[in-house]
Amino acid sequence: CGIFGVIGVSDAANFTALGLHALQHRGQEAGGIVAYHPDHGFNSARRFGYVRDNFTKADVMDTLPGQLAIGHVRYSTAGSKGATAIRDVQPFFGEFSMGGCAIAHNGNLTNAAALRRELIERGSIFQSSSDSECIIHLMARSIQKNLSERIKDALRACEGAFSVVAMTRTKLIGVRDPLGVRPLVLGRIGDSGWALSSETCALDIIGADFVREIDPGEMVVIEGNKIDSSRPFHPAPSRFCIFEKVYFSRPDSILGGQSVYETRHRIGMELAIEAPVDADLVCPVPDSGTPAAIGYSQQSGIPYAMGIIRNQYMGRTFIEPTESIRNMGVRLKLNVNRALIKGKRVILVDDSVVRGTTSRKIKDMILDAGAAEVHFRIASPPTAWPCFYGVDTPERGKLLAATMSEDEMRDWIGVDSLKFISLDGLYRAAGEAAGRDPAAPKFCDACFSGDYPVTPSDKIAEGFEM
Ligand code: 5GP
Ligand code: SF4
Ligand code: MG
Repeated sequence: CGIFGVIGVSDAANFTALGLHALQHRGQEAGGIVAYHPDHGFNSARRFGYVRDNFTKADVMDTLPGQLAIGHVRYSTAGSKGATAIRDVQPFFGEFSMGGCAIAHNGNLTNAAALRRELIERGSIFQSSSDSECIIHLMARSIQKNLSERIKDALRACEGAFSVVAMTRTKLIGVRDPLGVRPLVLGRIGDSGWALSSETCALDIIGADFVREIDPGEMVVIEGNKIDSSRPFHPAPSRFCIFEKVYFSRPDSILGGQSVYETRHRIGMELAIEAPVDADLVCPVPDSGTPAAIGYSQQSGIPYAMGIIRNQYMGRTFIEPTESIRNMGVRLKLNVNRALIKGKRVILVDDSVVRGTTSRKIKDMILDAGAAEVHFRIASPPTAWPCFYGVDTPERGKLLAATMSEDEMRDWIGVDSLKFISLDGLYRAAGEAAGRDPAAPKFCDACFSGDYPVTPSDKIAEGFEM
């Protein structure tokens, strides 16, 4: 998901809509905005579909006046079961004795099922099936006198990944979980406004200056021109999601002081060193494989070419929640550039192999267009474990790498060769010159390593074996 918030600008909801539009790649199912105006109180709009189709028109935007707003774009993950209902669309809102509070959450709480059970037993009335709603009910049970203290209490009871943007009548609040699994950055708008955003690309769109990242385990409370920073949790070594760098974030964002594009480009170079092959062309699977394909081409000296053309009017296929739409999606989105491919030995670079559906279909299309050889190079290690921290990977049994060796995957996909970047190579590309330190890995890489930095307690209660 993507989260965004602004304070201290007239038209905060419009800024938020622009920010969410820049974060649309993080969630395409639905979006919501809450704004506060002293004369009109809290107002919200929650809609299915793209930001640009819902939050650009006067009939919606005029209902969201004020200088303070937050928003959310949603993509449903392992934590949420079944189809999204509009009541699952964030931000969530609660009225407390000291005023209203709206919350937008990115990530996944790994103890949400246990929390929900306990809260319901004690009288909470849940409106949605979302894990994030627990935060509001936990706030209601806190005895703290002000809302930011109640947010601290609530989040101390939460386990897993959370970047949160919240607002009261006067404050914009940002929090990251102790490991900092999901991103959150702070921006300055002119000399009166502030923004919080999942990624820096959303600061660029509104002309805000990037100030800094919110630290793992940090809470910032912004009121007027004052920023108050605190550390509500026990300190822990940070474990940012390495898959944000591989796939999830936009290439023009800066994460952990490093350009996402640059990381992906270096993954491609590492791949060319680790897994060379003689071929005529290096082609990306667009768009997610593009920077790595450029890196592979530059490092290997094999010409880069657009062997697959993407229809720009389709979204991210993976994010469509049902299998049947996903199956169609590849063809709706990608087509082979036949004239270029015919008779050529082609290296295809993609970001990840999850179920293998995408790779297999692309291989069919490329061979159908007359390619002489097809070699897959993947910019992440084999995805062998599900993510419980906010990225939608299927259960273990559906992950190709959980049941097959690399050679078996190559044969199942039906290509001449298949190679993945090593975990060490990925760490080097992400700026860790010495590779991955198994005793103290710098990132979360659980979907590749099975090393879960936060015990997924709900899943273990359901029978998941680590
Ligand atoms: P597959 O077809 O192997 O199940 O999925 C791999 C494709 O899904 C890749 O092309 C990748 O770009 C795309 N993808 C989109 N979203 C995600 C995601 O959240 N996780 C992973 N691992 N891949 C994703
Ligand atoms: Fe990111 Fe994978 Fe960790 Fe999930 S399991 S937070 S996708 S690195
Ligand atoms: Mg892709």
